[in-house]
Order: sequence, then structure tokens, then C-alpha cells
Amino acid sequence: MVTIKSKREIALMQEACKVVALTYQKLEKEINAGMTTWELDKIAENTMKQLGAIPAQKGYNPGIKGVPQFPASICVSINDEVIHGIPSKHRIIKEGDIVSIDTVALKDGFNGDAARTFVIGKVPKETQRLVDVTKQAFYEGIKYAKPGYRIGDISHAIGEYVHSQGFSVVQEFQGHGIGKEMHEDPGIPNSGKAGRGLRLEPGMTLAVEPMVIQGKSNILELDDGWTIITEDGSLAAHYENTILITEKEPKILTIL
Ligand code: MG
Repeated sequence: MVTIKSKREIALMQEACKVVALTYQKLEKEINAGMTTWELDKIAENTMKQLGAIPAQKGYNPGIKGVPQFPASICVSINDEVIHGIPSKHRIIKEGDIVSIDTVALKDGFNGDAARTFVIGKVPKETQRLVDVTKQAFYEGIKYAKPGYRIGDISHAIGEYVHSQGFSVVQEFQGHGIGKEMHEDPGIPNSGKAGRGLRLEPGMTLAVEPMVIQGKSNILELDDGWTIITEDGSLAAHYENTILITEKEPKILTIL
């Protein structure tokens, strides 16, 4: 179901999204080579709790047979891992890694969702370009996140831009509506036909999230039931914000 948020609900969404923004500020300051992904998880969890929120991914059950509950407060996916990586005490971040973090804060009944890819130290130019293109793909998409356009216009803009830069988008996972539920309708694919899909209306809150692969778009799932990796071993990046559709330009809620 697609939900149109009331003024009150939008105010609550803004609060949840602010927690996510502050959590990323903290993570950006702290993330470094030599840390474990477990430590990042604890930083995020503690930050959210201090701000009166709950890490919504912890214990998340997708309701798919055979898929275990997600055990942590962030997804952390390094290099050829695309999304849904599980934090671990044994996984140490290294110089030259790209680290994608995706996290959701639940506060007063509403969710805020964002993802960032952090570059650790020096990386090749082409790696930095992947990270930059992924972020820019979000901005290309939300040029169409306003009344008068449809979901397909966002998808089309993301896909066209990423492909024009020589990279691939993940087909199997997509952005989504968000509110009381972490995942609400509509789905927002990262490629598609312009002029198709749901018409955008003020009061919709959407998580737009390009997942971009340097090589081919094919992905695999690891035996942990969560981690998604690129099939060809090439690098992947992720960038996401929760946005609000208004009468005019969209408002990005997970950036302060
Ligand atoms: Mg997310």
C-alpha cells in the first residue's frame, strides 16, 4: 500500500531521518582501517539509542522462507559485496576498501533509511568514480521526484545515468516507499521505462537507493542468507536517502 503522510506523520518521519543523518555523521568520523565491522555496528546502535531510536534492521525478518532474521543494526558490505553484509568481529576494514553501510532508524513509530559508501584511504581513480557515480545517480533520479512525474521517471533517470558512465545497476533489489513500515509500496527499480508506474504526490516518502556495480549486473547470495556479492567479483557501491515528495522539489530527509 502506498501511504500519503499527514503533516504530523511527516514531522515524525523527519525525526527518524535526522537520527539516520546523525548516525552517518558519527560513522564518517569514526570509520577507519583496522576497525572491525562489528565496531561500526556498535557505533551505529549506540548513536541511535542515545537519540531515542531503535535500529530497525536488528531482528528484521523479511518473511521469506529460509532467510534468517538480520542480526545487526547496520548492513555493511565491503568491495564486491553489494548489500546486506553482516557485521562481524572478524572482518577488519583495510586501507583501499570501499565500505557500503545501510541502516534504518525507527523512532516514534516511523522509519528513516539511508546508505553511504565510504572510501578508506587511497583508492584507484576508477573506484572513486564508481562511488561518485552511485551518489550522483541518486541525484539524477530525484530530479523527477515531484508531482507531474511517475516512479518510472526516477528509475529511468538512474539507469540511464549509470549506464552512460559504463557501470551496471542491480536489478533484483530496489528502492521503496517508507513510513511506519521499513518497506512500503511502491518499489523503485534502479532502471526502467520513463512515464510508467505510480504518479508521484506530495506526502509520499520514498527511499531511493542506486546500487551500482563496476562490472556486470549479475549478483549472488552467500550462504549466510543475506550478503549479496557481485558474480564477477567487481566492486559495488550503494547510496540512499529517504526523501519527501512536496509540491515542488523533493526534500531529502536523511541529510541535515
Ligand atoms: Mg536502506
